[in-house]
Amino acid sequence: MTYDPAARRDTPLALKLKERIRREGGMLLADFIAACLWDESHGAYATKDVIGKPGDFITAPEISQVFGEVLGLWAAVVSQQMGSPPRVNLAELGPGRGTLMADALRAMSSVKGLKEALRVTLIEASPLLRTKQQATLAGAHPNLSWAEGFLPLDGGPAIVLANEFLDVFAPDQSIKTADGWRWRAVSLDEAGQFQFAVSTGTRLRPELDAQFPGAPVGSILSHIRSDALAEGLASIANGQPLAALFIDYGHTQSLLGETLQAIRGHAFEHPFTSPGEADISVQVDFADVAHAMRRAGFAVDGPVTQGEFLGRLGIVERASKLMSANPARAGEIETAVARLIGVPGMGDRFKVIGIRRPDMPPLPGF
Ligand code: SAH
Repeated sequence: MTYDPAARRDTPLALKLKERIRREGGMLLADFIAACLWDESHGAYATKDVIGKPGDFITAPEISQVFGEVLGLWAAVVSQQMGSPPRVNLAELGPGRGTLMADALRAMSSVKGLKEALRVTLIEASPLLRTKQQATLAGAHPNLSWAEGFLPLDGGPAIVLANEFLDVFAPDQSIKTADGWRWRAVSLDEAGQFQFAVSTGTRLRPELDAQFPGAPVGSILSHIRSDALAEGLASIANGQPLAALFIDYGHTQSLLGETLQAIRGHAFEHPFTSPGEADISVQVDFADVAHAMRRAGFAVDGPVTQGEFLGRLGIVERASKLMSANPARAGEIETAVARLIGVPGMGDRFKVIGIRRPDMPPLPGF
């Protein structure tokens, strides 16, 4: 991680958090990150549109419409696996600008009877992005609704899509100290600037000693709230069949190392550079997510790489059709799809994991 202390700015949120640390003597890193993302007046997600060309980072659905279309067709096949029930819930976690869902619904409308069966729920914590999604999806489906968090979906099985949701789902870190694993924290140095620290609370994390025997002092582990996510999925399922797809950057095995990152205006910066103005995330530990899902009683398919997954679902064939129908845009379509599946690149940096109720067959693409 590059770190230019001279680049650090006293944003309004930086001033607010420094004041809080002076008052309370340090804060957990998880709380620091949560404030950077979600502080009501200054958090990046709470106050601005971080996604797409003018925002901070670009995501797969914003790169090519084929991404959402292929996921829509995946959902259509899953609904057939579920026995084409008369009522199916299609939910998306963290829908961003609504592009993925718009593309998915358009592709799904080619499947007879499916549109009528669907009930679409967009789960989005940012009021600003909810407004964006409402604009993008106006008229896209007669049965659209929004929710701020996980909620039980009634009336039928659920199919859940989530792209780049895990990496911002409450990122947190632990650090190995001489007396065991502790939560990472943030304090102020002598010059009054943010610095990483270690939580001095009594809570140690002995389970990490068992998982990483012999890890040197100073080792860092990044995590998200996998158990809360698994609980959230269980509450969405509400006892009905559920199939969920998570796509994100991260690794298949639990790895030690610094993966906390801040990104603003499409450039990486240190997480302390401009609190509240950058997107902060960690690489997703898919092994940890899979364990949490199994603990909660789900079956897990994958992870596989995004390139493999989209390849198996026929993204190249779909892109070719689109290119033939739009010869003037053929070059642009080809470049965009190549970016999604390219290796090294998004094709192998991004992984895909499928979660399902264990009595369902393995999900397509795995
Ligand atoms: N899926 C979109 C956006 C990815 S950015 C895309 O691929 O373009 C992450 C999204 O998750 C944003 O919409 C953000 O507001 C939302 N989000 C993050 N944490 C959330 C939470 N705890 N509950 C609901 N939405 C959340």
